[in-house]
Amino acid sequence: MLTLDFHPTGRHFLQIPGPSPVPDRILRAMSLPTIDHRGPEFGALGLRVLAGMRKIFQTRHPVIIYPASGTGAWEASLCNVLSPGDHVLMYETGHFASLWIKMAARLGLKTDVIGLPGAENWRRGVQAHLVEERLKADTQHAIKAVCVVHNETSTGVTSNIAAVRKAIDAAKHPALLMVDSISGLACADYRHDEWGVDVTISGSQKGLMLPPGISFNAVSPKAIAASQTATLPKAFWAWDEMIEMNKTGFFPYTPNTNLLYGLAEACDMLLEPQHGGLPAVFARHQRWGEGVRAAVKAWGLEIQCADPAVYSPVLTGVVMPEGVDADAVRKLIYDRFDCSLGTGLGKVKGRMFRIGHLGDCNDLTLMGALSGCEMGLKLSGVKLAGSGVAAAMDYFAGHPSRMPLQMAA
Ligand code: PLP
Repeated sequence: MLTLDFHPTGRHFLQIPGPSPVPDRILRAMSLPTIDHRGPEFGALGLRVLAGMRKIFQTRHPVIIYPASGTGAWEASLCNVLSPGDHVLMYETGHFASLWIKMAARLGLKTDVIGLPGAENWRRGVQAHLVEERLKADTQHAIKAVCVVHNETSTGVTSNIAAVRKAIDAAKHPALLMVDSISGLACADYRHDEWGVDVTISGSQKGLMLPPGISFNAVSPKAIAASQTATLPKAFWAWDEMIEMNKTGFFPYTPNTNLLYGLAEACDMLLEPQHGGLPAVFARHQRWGEGVRAAVKAWGLEIQCADPAVYSPVLTGVVMPEGVDADAVRKLIYDRFDCSLGTGLGKVKGRMFRIGHLGDCNDLTLMGALSGCEMGLKLSGVKLAGSGVAAAMDYFAGHPSRMPLQMAA
């Protein structure tokens, strides 16, 4: 058995932007015995989670659940609707966007990558006018899909998806809109149908508060129609059999039964009206983001996201002063205070660390994590302008959550 007994008491602070801590209620649900995935009980479970996930994606259309990490659902989104050599317009907001771009190229798609020049690109959201310009120039409609990341987990930037939809419409372009909301869903406001998204990709280990292991494609009727003529090879990822069998709550192959128990519980926790439903979920993530950013600003450190209009409610990227190795600071915080923070990814490795503020946390867990950060920054010799802990305390104390705690629990 893996023993996590390095610190003999208290819980580890898992403060990375996913996997996020799994609440006890979900852990208990997942501990039930595995059942026959072809039996009647399973059909009821399948229908329940599929209905719950439609509400979370805010869609009336099919949601597909894969026993795979988010990367699998990325591949599924591309190979279901596209054909070899198709052009895809992909916006590079950060490391995850660039991985998705790399995957598209490996699948034999022609990737047309846009974004702001240089470092600016990883500090701001999708610039919808650039999408519009590129689509207007594509008078032959060679571009078959526009791919953007909703919440860029590597930087802490949440792009405006409704604006991307408007840009596609303004260009009168028929391209599909594909959105990675792997870390945005169930944290930041997300509306698959209202924003006219054709495929939304998501995963279990972020706002849904589950362990890693399942991922999703929410699909529009236009995407389903495209999947009927698209010719990239697809077998495991194919939507058609899945959609057909899901009508009765079953899956074409063995699903992750115990993760689905957890998913049913997560849907209840996120949707139950007495807990305030999705509006309360979005509001508490916004509030946590505000509190954490108050701390970073009081430290006098830079936030990776340079545009306050697109600050992420899910995580905050904290940029280190010149000459400070962010990974050394992270390691010290881990070793001394048993708190995991997200590493800098790709071109910002060593320059920043990421504080996750998503899922099963609260004001005091965040205060604990911020204390760990502040102590670790000081021990690392980083000159701080002031106390981020004091600033976050003032923020949380001065901005009570709108939902009484007894109801939110
Ligand atoms: N896209 C985003 C925005 C992510 O945050 C992640 C993982 O953190 C992925 C894609 C890849 O998902 P996975 O690691 O579950 O395969």
